[in-house]
Amino acid sequence: MAVGKAKWILVSGGAGFIGSHLCDYLVARGERVLCVDNTVTGNKRNIAHLLGHPRFRFRKQDITRPFKPGVKLRQVYNLASPASPVGYYKKPLETILVGSYGVKNMLDLALRNRARFLQASTSEVYGDPKVHPQREDYWGNVNPIGLRSCYDESKRYAEALVMVYRRRFKVETRIARIFNTYGPRMDLKDGRVVPNLVKQAVLGQPLTVYGDGRQTRSFCFVSDLVKGLHSLMNSRFPGPTNLGNPAEFTVLAFAKKIRKLSGSKSRIVFKPLPEDDPTRRKPDISKARRELRWRPRVSLDEGLGLTIDYFRQQLV
Ligand code: UDP
Repeated sequence: MAVGKAKWILVSGGAGFIGSHLCDYLVARGERVLCVDNTVTGNKRNIAHLLGHPRFRFRKQDITRPFKPGVKLRQVYNLASPASPVGYYKKPLETILVGSYGVKNMLDLALRNRARFLQASTSEVYGDPKVHPQREDYWGNVNPIGLRSCYDESKRYAEALVMVYRRRFKVETRIARIFNTYGPRMDLKDGRVVPNLVKQAVLGQPLTVYGDGRQTRSFCFVSDLVKGLHSLMNSRFPGPTNLGNPAEFTVLAFAKKIRKLSGSKSRIVFKPLPEDDPTRRKPDISKARRELRWRPRVSLDEGLGLTIDYFRQQLV
């Protein structure tokens, strides 16, 4: 096939935390990758090592504006969005627009190119869940007007739009509901629990636990998550499917684990709980196990060890 005719995989949000690992994974598998990011929360540093690779291109672009990719597309992974609570509290307009106009523009690109389309959705579509663990057929408990709604509701809208394009235009769509994910390249300033606590532990500062620390989360290492996204895209299964690690911890237990693994003597301090902070969260991954033959492989101790090493290098 002539080079000009070769088809590319577009990753929007490709300079972000998960997006950049996905770009690495795809390039390593021999794919041609067009990474699109406006770097509002992503960072070019995350893909610096890929720049200059013959099968990798970076384009600084806000996807809320339509654009021509300049290459033929085979697949589109739509990951672009601020994704940490602090990120979307600071950028609510960017968040709700990328989750609506942005998704539409990316779906239109997929439609024009007859490309397969994967939407990065989120466990936040379940809100503060009344069903535990969360299964894909649970419709959620979301505050439509709260501080998180710019994210939660645009992700819910995005799922609806994806389904309209699937039914109306026969676009080959996939929906992944991504649960808490962590690992190297998380933004130290994004306010999420992993970068906050690891940074505090490494620097010997007090560990900030919000609320009483009895709320739960389930943390998936980024390499597992990326494999899940890739399997979903290349399976016949449209989803929605949860992708995450079902091992559930209270935030307080999690803080103690980080303290232990980093050999830190930091004390724990309690701070107010953010608005609409979900009480508990744990994915039921039986669908992904059955349909994708996927499950996470990296234990929390192993993944946190790698993450602590990464942050230590950033901080010293
Ligand atoms: N959290 C905390 N200390 C921090 C940052 C977060 O205790 O310094 C808590 C937060 O209140 C939430 C959980 O950790 O219950 C996970 O928060 P994160 O912002 O990482 O993501 P979320 O799961 O809320 O989207």
